[in-house]
Amino acid sequence: MQMQKLFNGHTVFSVEVFPPKKPGTIGSITSALDGISGIKPDFISCTYGAGGNPADTSTVDICRMIKEKYGILPIAHLTCVNNSREDIDNIIGLLDNAGVTNVLALRGDKNDKVKPKEDFFHASELISYLRQKAPHIHISAACYPETHPDSESAVSDILYLKEKEQCGAEHFISQLFFDNEDFYAFREKTLIAGIKSPIEAGIMPVTGKSGILRMVSMCGASIPKKLSRILNKYENDPRAFADACLAYAIDQIIDLIANDVDGIHLYSMNRPDIAQSIYGAVKNML
Ligand code: FAD
Repeated sequence: MQMQKLFNGHTVFSVEVFPPKKPGTIGSITSALDGISGIKPDFISCTYGAGGNPADTSTVDICRMIKEKYGILPIAHLTCVNNSREDIDNIIGLLDNAGVTNVLALRGDKNDKVKPKEDFFHASELISYLRQKAPHIHISAACYPETHPDSESAVSDILYLKEKEQCGAEHFISQLFFDNEDFYAFREKTLIAGIKSPIEAGIMPVTGKSGILRMVSMCGASIPKKLSRILNKYENDPRAFADACLAYAIDQIIDLIANDVDGIHLYSMNRPDIAQSIYGAVKNML
């Protein structure tokens, strides 16, 4: 599916899932997808080898299921830092076989325990390769409202984002962020740089204090005082914590929609209950 068509005239609402941690247990994703598919998101994306862990074929298998069983557009994440050209060719074959035509092309997380392969160093190289090798595939890519932690500067990160668009990315999904002002400042910089592709805001509802602190330390996102107060006050009261964090995510999304965001990408953490609550609260605004 051509991404521009999806964004034509409405605010996209999409959801991300990840494959079950244990290879060969793909069946356990079904109950998550049963619940998430009920809200009919515009697409569901599935991660690939996240955390720098070796990937198996489960991303493609799950994307096939999203398309065939639930009738929803799947986007398969695909990373390149631990894949050779031959590996990518094999995955293109699997995607073709499964009828999956949309890919989120990424460099991938580096993992000290896995020696990177040397055919691709950056997502833009994967995007160019896919453009030439599989022109029927529509390509999305990642962006970073608070700047990717490996970047020389915020300016270079934006220029490399533009390069990803020039290489063939049609759409961007942002890293999680908790202060919408960071997203608006970033969006303004992309416009100044002449980036035209739609940018979805990545929203992660917080489900645990230690988990989110680990996540932000890895991805370079910051925690504003307003969220920090919630994490500290309710960390030992699970029900209050869940309610407060859900309200925080909904508040963020309402503000983004009111500010004409192109789309909301919900990091669902395979929790249909959270996806349903959030969608229910904002669906009339989309
Ligand atoms: P790149 O675009 O290559 O950028 C990485 C860094 O290199 C940036 O600092 C950039 O400014 C710089 N850079 C880019 N191009 C060049 C260049 N030509 N020369 C010099 N510097 C350059 N990881 C997974 O392993 N699996 C997943 O499924 C996954 N899904 C994700 C989904 C989303 C929406 C996001 C935001 C991230 C996801 N990640 C995933 C994490 C991602 O792989 C990491 O953030 C990774 O560190 C960077 O990936 P990238 O594609 O943005 O890399």
